[in-house]
Amino acid sequence: MRRCKKKMDYVCLQCRKTIDNNTLKKRIRCPFCGSKILLKKTTGIERKVKAL
Ligand SMILES: [Zn+2]
Repeated sequence: MRRCKKKMDYVCLQCRKTIDNNTLKKRIRCPFCGSKILLKKTTGIERKVKAL
């Protein structure tokens, strides 16, 4: 069985840091500021694009 390359990341809404899903494991909590409000983001699909 092949693992999907698509990985889930989270973005902390408080400190705006990206947290890897592996870092979180079972606890949905920001390791940087301790915030529990995280935004799910899928790497590869959602991209930050600056529209100038
Ligand atoms: Zn944070």
